[in-house]
Amino acid sequence: MIELFTKKRIINIIIYFILFCFSYFYARLSFYKIESFKEDLELIIGPSVNLSAKWVGKIGVKKNIPILILAGHADSQGLAGSGTSGEAVDKFNDHPMNPEMSDELFWNLNLQRSIVLIGKQRGLNIESYDPEIRNIDNPNDPRTNWSVGKEFAKRGGYVIEIHFDSYGKYGVGSGLIPPYFQLPNKIDESIASKFGRFPVSFRGGLGAPRRKIRILEIGKLEGSLEKNLRNIKTRQKTIQFLSNEIVDAILNGVN
Ligand SMILES: [Zn+2]
Repeated sequence: MIELFTKKRIINIIIYFILFCFSYFYARLSFYKIESFKEDLELIIGPSVNLSAKWVGKIGVKKNIPILILAGHADSQGLAGSGTSGEAVDKFNDHPMNPEMSDELFWNLNLQRSIVLIGKQRGLNIESYDPEIRNIDNPNDPRTNWSVGKEFAKRGGYVIEIHFDSYGKYGVGSGLIPPYFQLPNKIDESIASKFGRFPVSFRGGLGAPRRKIRILEIGKLEGSLEKNLRNIKTRQKTIQFLSNEIVDAILNGVN
């Protein structure tokens, strides 16, 4: 009787031990998965633009230059230029992040907030503008990104509109589109050497660069970049990491 009792206890102990081992390694594995977010810019943003661009930003900028960050497509929802809906929504039928706007604008706004916050903490003279009206038909309406950006640049400020590029064959990759009628400066150079370099005449000189507004394509909204943004466990890390990289580049350009 006693012998049977001990045998049962030993079996129980073994079973518990095996269960413990399984749950321990499972926990370690899922912990590792979260931890495996690698702070590697190239790995996170994916391919950068592969077009021939010969410009070099040489013009110096003063340390306290006013900087304005715009979120691409903030005033053009429901119009032709509403921004990419991204690979997840377009190709894999995932839900949009916010049904009232393209996924690109959703992420542009998130990045805009974070870049300005981190930029201020790190001593930049930086601000943002959001028209808040999401449908302004006339690009020359004084409330659009481009009109506000144009005025800001006219007063000597540095204006950059952030974007995510389309997925797959519809997009080109990450990189900076410099201003069209102005020599690029050292901030442009610093951002381009990190994110990639578009030719000055890209698509015939887009609306923004013709108004002295730079365009930064952060990366194509696809693959691991989009997954890292959509995954709630890696979202904040990804937004903060990208914002820090952009602020680093600006700081390098002004110093
Ligand atoms: Zn865009």
